[in-house]
Amino acid sequence: MTAMDDFRSDTVTRPDGAMRAAMASAEVGDAVYEDCPTTRRLEAMTAERLGKEAALFFPTGTQSNLAGLMAHCGRGDEYLVGQMAHTFLYEGGGAAVLGSIQPQPLPNEPDGTIALAAIEGAIKPDDIHHARTRLLTLENTFAGMVLDPAYLGAATGLARRHGLGTHLDGARLMNAAVALGCGADVLARGFDTVSLCLSKGLGAPVGSVLAGPGDLIGAARRLRKMLGGGMRQTGILAAAGIHALERNVARLAEDHARAAGLAGILAGFPELGSGPARTNMVFMTPAGTDVDTFRRFLAGRGIAVGGRNGSLRWVTHLDVDDASLDRVRAACEDYFSGNGRGQGSNTA
Ligand SMILES: *Cc1c(COP(=O)(O)O)cnc(C)c1O
Repeated sequence: MTAMDDFRSDTVTRPDGAMRAAMASAEVGDAVYEDCPTTRRLEAMTAERLGKEAALFFPTGTQSNLAGLMAHCGRGDEYLVGQMAHTFLYEGGGAAVLGSIQPQPLPNEPDGTIALAAIEGAIKPDDIHHARTRLLTLENTFAGMVLDPAYLGAATGLARRHGLGTHLDGARLMNAAVALGCGADVLARGFDTVSLCLSKGLGAPVGSVLAGPGDLIGAARRLRKMLGGGMRQTGILAAAGIHALERNVARLAEDHARAAGLAGILAGFPELGSGPARTNMVFMTPAGTDVDTFRRFLAGRGIAVGGRNGSLRWVTHLDVDDASLDRVRAACEDYFSGNGRGQGSNTA
C-alpha cells in the first residue's frame, strides 16, 4: 500500500526517520536477563509517568492486559469488566481461556463508565456457590471517550472498600490525559496496575507497558515469560517507545483537534449521520447511504475508514494531516452531490 489517508486506526502509523534513527542506535542487552539498558529506561520512564513503582515492557497490549489480569486473579477468580471493553470483547477471551478467570461483564453506560451500583451489585458474597470476585477493570479512553478523575476515584474507591484489586486498560491513557490537561499519573492513581499502548497514537511500531506495584509487576514478569512474551534485545523496540513518550504525547492535542475538524466536515453530509469527536475518534452510523458502497468509493480515492456492523470509525493520528481532511471533504462532496450517487448509494 502506498500513501493513503488511513483513518482505520491509530495503530497504522509508521515510524519516521527520527524514530528509526533512535531504534538503530539503541543500546541493547538481553531483557529476559533484565540487562537491556534501553528497555529498563523505558520501563522506569513509564513507571514514573504513571506514578507507579515498577513497569514491564510487553509486545502487545493484549498480552500486557492478560498478564495484568492474571497477576491479580487466579484460577476460578472473577473480574468485573465492561461488556464492550477491549479485554472482554476484543482479546479472544484470553482472560477466561488462558487465565481461567471468569469475566463478569457489566453494561457500559453511553459515556463509557460502568455504573457504580452495577459494580457494587456484581461483587459476590463469600459463598461457595460463587466465583471469588477479585478485580475491577476499567478502560480509558473508552471508544475515544475520556473517563474523568472523579468517576475513576469513586469506582476504584468502591472496589478497594470491597477488597478488590483494580486494573486500567489505558491503551490510550495519554489521549485522556492530554484531553483533560492533566498528568497520566492523575488518571492512573486509583489503579493498582495500568496497561499503556505505545503503538497507538504515540506512534511506536510495537509495544505496551504494564505499570504497577513491584510485587504485581514481578508476578507479571513470570506470566509474560509463560505467555511467550519474554523477548531479548527489546532495546530496539523500547527506543521507539522512549522516543514516542518524549516526542508524541503533547502532540496528541493535534489529533484531537483534527478529529473535531473531521467531525465538522462529515456533519455537512446528513446521509452519514454525524457523530461528535471523542479525543482522536469520530463514530457514526449512516442511515441515508449504504456503508459498504461508501467505503468502497472512499477506498478508490485512497481513503480507508474503520468500523463494523454498519458504522464508520474515523481515527486521527500522526500519519494524517489537514490535507487528508481536505481529501475526505472532496470525496464526500463527489459522492453525495454527483458522481457518487451513481455508485448506488441510495439504490439498495
Ligand atoms: C489496542 C488496544 C489494546 C491492545 O491491543 P494490541 O493490539 O494487543 O496492542 C487494548 N485495549 C484497548 C482499548 C485497545 O484499543
